[in-house]
Amino acid sequence: MKLSVGAQSDVGRVRERNEDALLLHDPLYAVADGMGGHRAGEIAARTAVDTLRGEPLGDGAHALAERVRQANRAVLDTAAGDRALEGMGTTLTAVLLAGDELRIAHVGDSRAYLLRGDAFTQITEDHTLVQRMVRQGRLTPAEAEVHPQRSILTQALGVDPAIEVDELSVPVLPGDRVLLCTDGLTGMLSQEEIEGTLRETPDPQAAADALVAAAVDAGGIDNVTVLVIDLLDDSGGRPALPPAPEEADEAEEAEEAEPEGETGDEPDDTASVERVARPARAPARPRRWRRAVVAAAAVALLVTGAVAAKALYVDRQWYVGESNGMVAIFRGLPAEPLGLDLSTLVEETGLPAAEVERL
Ligand code: CA
Repeated sequence: MKLSVGAQSDVGRVRERNEDALLLHDPLYAVADGMGGHRAGEIAARTAVDTLRGEPLGDGAHALAERVRQANRAVLDTAAGDRALEGMGTTLTAVLLAGDELRIAHVGDSRAYLLRGDAFTQITEDHTLVQRMVRQGRLTPAEAEVHPQRSILTQALGVDPAIEVDELSVPVLPGDRVLLCTDGLTGMLSQEEIEGTLRETPDPQAAADALVAAAVDAGGIDNVTVLVIDLLDDSGGRPALPPAPEEADEAEEAEEAEPEGETGDEPDDTASVERVARPARAPARPRRWRRAVVAAAAVALLVTGAVAAKALYVDRQWYVGESNGMVAIFRGLPAEPLGLDLSTLVEETGLPAAEVERL
């Protein structure tokens, strides 16, 4: 199989710097979304993709994930050598075409999607707090998608030497289209809007350009980076993308129902795949703006803790509080923003809290 690839990245309308990075190194492709003060985010993302490119990858099924672990060490080492880079991190979602399978290694909340036939499926799982809560049944997928705390990561490169890299292998066919993107795309556009643009735009570069332009038009509150990877047969032939099914009324209903969240009876993957793709159009805009405003409010909320939303790794936050009248150590965040409990009791000290208060 051959690949035809389109790529685009934009700083957006709000950020001063583009802290995303992308890698085009046939047959290896990746996106990274850096975070950290000053230039640190850019350096983290760049270090990750440079390490990924490195020497040629071995044939082993785990070679790509091992390279991502190496990238994690490289980000940690770079940060250790410069105080200004302390606390930097990055997401990394990488794909490698090996024969007729696509190997994927993934950490963070950048995403890989597969468009095949009628289906448009997210193939990576976000390493975010809200995704963890979906798995625990505490949020529905629809609630997680618009949750103001959805950018809080549970894993990123540059945080912990013992990183857990998700590894996936997807058999691919000529005609498949793979999307890699940072959350600057998925935070601004619905999955239906993204799918609609991918179906309407056969040329991968034009599709990447159109997606980035749409995310910027929708507010561009974050850096946005997109890779569109088309799988072609050995002669370079491109089977036509199937049009979306024509069930506009049903799509309209699904759209209207979305803000209240789905019933939770069915996984959102199924629901979104069944939903009809449609071109981006005017009625979708107010919802996107609302999303942007909610995200901005979340940033404001978290900045009160003197931490940028993306730089917040919940599992690495500790604080001292009170439990059963005793001083206790918690892991997580003391606040319960919007009713979300972000902490776990780790240890009660046996030291009465009332005595400490008197000190
Ligand atoms: Ca981002």
